[in-house]
Amino acid sequence: MFIPAPAKILICPFCKGEKPVLEPLFGHSLGGTLWSDTKTIYPAMPEISMVQRCPHCGKYYFAFNVESKEGDADSDDQGNLTYEQIKEAVNQYDQVVLEQEDEITLRLLFVQIYNDTFQREGVAHDAQPTAADKTLLRKQVLRLLQIWDYAEDLLRAELYREIGEFEQAAKILDAQTLEQPFMHYMVSQMRQLAESGQTQAFQIKYKPTEEDLRKMEHQEPEAYTPDPSPKHIDEDSPF
Ligand SMILES: [Zn+2]
Repeated sequence: MFIPAPAKILICPFCKGEKPVLEPLFGHSLGGTLWSDTKTIYPAMPEISMVQRCPHCGKYYFAFNVESKEGDADSDDQGNLTYEQIKEAVNQYDQVVLEQEDEITLRLLFVQIYNDTFQREGVAHDAQPTAADKTLLRKQVLRLLQIWDYAEDLLRAELYREIGEFEQAAKILDAQTLEQPFMHYMVSQMRQLAESGQTQAFQIKYKPTEEDLRKMEHQEPEAYTPDPSPKHIDEDSPF
């Protein structure tokens, strides 16, 4: 259950056109799923797409960087983009120099929508990617790997795997230490998929077994010391 607030109205930075979108007030993450491409789905806590298409001028903008105001009526529009639309968005911003965070948002969203469209575990896909689609994915991923200097190794390996660069993925996976049960789970899932030549994004279903919990109890206390570097601040990220 979530309680929608009166719609938030986003104001297009290009044409000043207005777009009412969902603004949930309260929600919870129960029943949520987490995916290897960092996609999360929380049915009880829907969020709006980070990149929105203006219904007036057709341009794309970053939802959290634009002016907004409160609307009167409720809205349940999340403004999720289709694959064709995220291609347009990437194309629009290829001509512009973006802030690092915005560029990561845009290109990661491309990867997630590509996966939704062509290669997500357990999802029926109507279409096969063309050579041009694969090239476009590869371009986004290589650019992400270049600019995302704080991305964790696991995510780097996963991005390589999703574009079929299995050797690069394996090289990173081989360098990981596997004392933590979660790392062990992730690395073996990714390694298995890479070895069978699969590029699909998978659902992270890690649950510690009793043995894992026992192992964690017996670990040295340092294992629990949080790493103060900023890459570990995002607690929602599995990476
Ligand atoms: Zn507009």
